[in-house]
Amino acid sequence: MRLKNKVALITGAGSGIGKTTALLFAKEGARVIVNDLSEQHGTETAEEICEHGGEAIFLRADVSVSPEVEDLVKRALARYGQIDVLFNNAGIAGVGALHETSDELWDRVMNVNIKGVFLPSKFVIPHMMERKAGCIINMSSCIAEIGLMRRAVYAATKGAVLALTKSMQVDYATYNIRVNALLPGTILTPFVEDYLKTSYENPDEALQNIKKRQLSGDLGTPEDVAKAALFLASDESKFMMGSPLYIDGGATFGKMA
Ligand code: NAP
Repeated sequence: MRLKNKVALITGAGSGIGKTTALLFAKEGARVIVNDLSEQHGTETAEEICEHGGEAIFLRADVSVSPEVEDLVKRALARYGQIDVLFNNAGIAGVGALHETSDELWDRVMNVNIKGVFLPSKFVIPHMMERKAGCIINMSSCIAEIGLMRRAVYAATKGAVLALTKSMQVDYATYNIRVNALLPGTILTPFVEDYLKTSYENPDEALQNIKKRQLSGDLGTPEDVAKAALFLASDESKFMMGSPLYIDGGATFGKMA
């Protein structure tokens, strides 16, 4: 019960890493506010938590739309009276080298992946400042540190999230708010399954190549990242502030041959 008496708001918790983290946080005693774009997926996550004896509610909002996020935070606070952990997890892919990236794709990925961290933080932080307590986890990616082919806008957003994390930490350290970032390598989720199908002529070959670029020789699982999120959310990581936490099978710092 590493999150006993805590309330956690997780964005994009209808699928993949967000969903797995929501289930794990609930198992560890947290009351979970499940946010997602999809009514169906978000409801399913909250129901699964409740079926296993945990406590959760689903609140729909698009993390890139200010009034929706403001309303989400208001409703969450009305229900539970506190938010101890904010996990800014929601994100979307964007495939293409810079010259192949349309203005529309650029704006969409920037909006969800960066504004989608800015807005929930903006509305939750005053509450955490008042309580002089809080923990924020921002979803970056190891792509913030390494170049990968045809991921221009996506990489730009994840680099920005890492920079924002450090800046946020400096601003809110005196309020006893910790802000850290997760930097996963490639994790097998619907997000990756989808971009494999849409970006490569031969998805199986692409999958094998992705496996090779991680020293682990395989993709990570959503559980691998959820456990790292649990560590950051719990008091066990109380001395981690403004830090990037890599969960990448060696993709960032290792190189075979
Ligand atoms: P996923 O399975 O696609 O889950 C992402 C969730 O975010 C989906 O449920 C999606 O809802 C939701 N979402 C998207 N846009 C949203 C919005 N505007 N407002 C609210 N929710 C929204 O992806 P994942 O692989 O778990 O990725 C989660 C995070 O980890 C992302 O930030 C991603 O960039 C990051 N990450 C993933 C990997 C990886 O290899 N999988 C590696 C590094 C970092 P809908 O399904 O309704 O669109």
